[in-house]
Amino acid sequence: AFITFEGGEGAGKSTQVERLARRLRPARTVVVTREPGGTPRAEEIRAALLEGRAREHGPFAEALLFSAARLDHLDRLIRPALARGEVVLCDRFMDSTRAYQGAAGGLPAATVAALERVVVGRTRPDLTLILDLDPEQGLARARARAGAADRFEAETIEFHRRLRDAFRAIAAAEPERCAVIDAGRAPDAVEAAIRAAVAARLPA
Ligand code: C5P
Repeated sequence: AFITFEGGEGAGKSTQVERLARRLRPARTVVVTREPGGTPRAEEIRAALLEGRAREHGPFAEALLFSAARLDHLDRLIRPALARGEVVLCDRFMDSTRAYQGAAGGLPAATVAALERVVVGRTRPDLTLILDLDPEQGLARARARAGAADRFEAETIEFHRRLRDAFRAIAAAEPERCAVIDAGRAPDAVEAAIRAAVAARLPA
């Protein structure tokens, strides 16, 4: 099964990915990974993207770079793991491109969809957990986190509002694939909601 976690800054994705992995093991072999990144080549692209001035490439080139990283990640890690019957938990995936470069960045939806078609193809997530959080709250959390001086967090609050709306719109458009999780609660409550969504949508 392929499960992706999506959401804005400070929504608690990485914490929840780890918690779900712990919950599913040792009954299942679980691969925990993230985007951008996940393989050596993709991590190099991530470093290049996060080092530069935020959004310096423009949304199209940015989407191409994220797509190049995603292609390597899919070919070398995600697809082989799924073929072995393992569970893949991925912190961000194609919906981040739809939200960041598309809805919030201004790249036309048709361009995003074309990239998705050639890069992701049929390797769509079985379940996408959208960690939904008020952006003010998320940014406060992200800033409180040690070493979170991420350039991509230097966006306007409007940018973050567009992101939240975009993730919610994705969930509304694809309710079978997506579950919206209220991430404004304590980590244990978020974890329980995620566990329920996984049990309901992906029966073992
Ligand atoms: O999830 P994480 O915080 O590690 O993501 C790193 C950064 O990359 C995020 O702050 C986000 O702003 C940025 N990003 C992006 N477009 C994507 C995926 C991530 O701008 N498609």
